[in-house]
Amino acid sequence: MKSNLNIMKVHITSIPGYSKENIEQVTSLLSEVRGEISYFKCDPITPEQMMLIDDKFEDFNGVKTLSFQDFFKIANKYRIIKSIPKEDIVVVLSTVKHDLNWFSGGSINNIFVDTRGWEYITDSDSKYGIAYQIIENIFQLLVGIEYDNAVTDPNVHHTSIGCINDMCKSKMEVISKLRSAYICVSCQKRAINMNVDTIILLQIISTIQKIRDGLMNFDLILNSLKPLPTVVEENSIVRIGGKEIMLQAVPKTLFIFYLSNIDGVKVDSLEDNHHKEKLLAIYRSIRRGGRRETVDSLCLPQNNEGSTFPKVRTETNKYLINAFDKVLSEFYVINNIHGPAYNFYKIQLPAEYLTFKLNL
Ligand SMILES: [Zn+2]
Repeated sequence: MKSNLNIMKVHITSIPGYSKENIEQVTSLLSEVRGEISYFKCDPITPEQMMLIDDKFEDFNGVKTLSFQDFFKIANKYRIIKSIPKEDIVVVLSTVKHDLNWFSGGSINNIFVDTRGWEYITDSDSKYGIAYQIIENIFQLLVGIEYDNAVTDPNVHHTSIGCINDMCKSKMEVISKLRSAYICVSCQKRAINMNVDTIILLQIISTIQKIRDGLMNFDLILNSLKPLPTVVEENSIVRIGGKEIMLQAVPKTLFIFYLSNIDGVKVDSLEDNHHKEKLLAIYRSIRRGGRRETVDSLCLPQNNEGSTFPKVRTETNKYLINAFDKVLSEFYVINNIHGPAYNFYKIQLPAEYLTFKLNL
């Protein structure tokens, strides 16, 4: 039996080289969502403590890479130094790269996260990527995914679908799943089957949404940056700043659909007949005789396992982020905008920059 009171303590520290201020930023971002998981900021491990952990860290500046074993040894010795009980989680933030280039990993209540090279995020925003990696690893530890079984675990997605458990071989893919703030149905089922406390799951979901919203706050830049004129031609060709958008038929359909509804569309309302018919018309304008079933599965509610929407949205957004830079793409990606009383998807392009010629 699980008790209802499942307080989980997470201690966040770093190896030498990462600043106390940065640890504090990451910790306070995660602490914005209150619940049964509590986060504690710790001082960075000192070079002297590193020597106590292992003689080979005597000249820590000379250490170029760290292995899984190194990271988990550092975490375990840190526990002893600080008398942290084994049921608590220890997070070690690292300025040294992992020898196999993993961005993060977890094992037996220990987690490490690489803090370097979030090059698709500005310096001040790197806390979002790091915080996401922490919450992702907490989720994975709770559902029994550890670094040594991650590659073969059926719930680790080698092809990105925007889920928290996407394998992500590049940071670009991490950013993409961070934007999705999504846990797929199969991974939700896994968490339920593993008896993870619902209150903790809800805290994890709120946290990934919080991180996503924080990252999406580009008001300052958006206000000073002008979007490129965007045209949807009669023949369904889309040009942004004269550049043709080369999306596949289905993501392109979704993109044109949200351009045609520039004020946004409520989440899970695609099943409404007028939306569905419009999507089909767009799809068939791109692919003659395109199958209705393709549009049907795109329109399913997202909690339906057959829904292709999350994957298609992720694919669309990834293409746009790649084609334009991260900042400019903010005008074109399909964002989830939500608050207590509203929840919809929307492209942030101001209507005066859009010329829509396609007849629907
Ligand atoms: Zn998943």
